[in-house]
Amino acid sequence: MITILPNTDKEPLNTIGYCAGICWNSPVDDKEKNIKRAKACIRSGHTRTAEYPDVFCIVDGYSARCIRELYTHIIGTTRLQSSTRYVDAKSMDTEKEFYYPFKDEAREVYKEGLDSIMNTYTKLEELGYPKEDAANILPLGMETKIVWKINLRALMHFMNMRLCTRAYKEIRALSLELKEKLRVVSPEWEWICDNLFVPKCEAVGYCDEDHSCGRKISKADMLEAVEQWKKNK
Ligand SMILES: Cc1cc2nc3c(=O)[nH]c(=O)nc-3n(C[C@H](O)[C@H](O)[C@H](O)COP(=O)(O)OP(=O)(O)OC[C@H]3O[C@@H](n4cnc5c(N)ncnc54)[C@H](O)[C@@H]3O)c2cc1C
Repeated sequence: MITILPNTDKEPLNTIGYCAGICWNSPVDDKEKNIKRAKACIRSGHTRTAEYPDVFCIVDGYSARCIRELYTHIIGTTRLQSSTRYVDAKSMDTEKEFYYPFKDEAREVYKEGLDSIMNTYTKLEELGYPKEDAANILPLGMETKIVWKINLRALMHFMNMRLCTRAYKEIRALSLELKEKLRVVSPEWEWICDNLFVPKCEAVGYCDEDHSCGRKISKADMLEAVEQWKKNK
């Protein structure tokens, strides 16, 4: 459901190392040295350098609600979304083109609700209203499509936030799919996916969420442990 577009930088570490190397008056014609330099920049938190490689992709088949969550990320990213003014939703299949977090009886109840909404949408059009007006009834669970551009720095932050177990399962699935799709683009992306696209607790070594999943020490416990360590030093 995620398609990586050809405009995506295939050699993101080389790009970073190249740009940083120019600023340090270093030779930039050796790719291996550029990659080494890029990794050092990222390790040291010089993440402005990671704003140079861009990812372009089509995200299709995730719900409008999930994409609304994606839209809360505003730095280093831009997108275009499928139009509800020009695209006719009448033909949308309530079995296949809506997000289904439910099973058994709940699934049936949910589907009945979707059918009712889509019937109303169709009736409003039959009453002579244009798609752009009828679209006001469409539910957040309907699938949508965006063309998304995001730079590596912003994507690292996105992954840190959205691979966390506190993020809703659908956007976590989107994050995991994007990670898997980028991982096979090139060896440089494989390194980035394996080392940088991790939940925020893995990136900083502690959890700052109030409702922690327990995977890492809480921030409060970590600070207390540091105080103890200082006392015992
Ligand atoms: C579990 C979870 C629950 C959430 N619940 C809600 C919710 O109920 N309602 C809701 O509205 N959102 C919610 N969000 C979204 C959340 O509040 C953030 O908007 C979203 O995660 C984007 O984070 P960000 O601002 O760090 O990202 P980005 O927009 O990508 O920003 C990246 C970084 O740039 C800096 N930055 C961003 N904007 C500015 C600015 N204007 N000025 C200065 N520095 C800036 C910050 O350091 C920021 O971390 C939730 C997110 C999660 C993960």
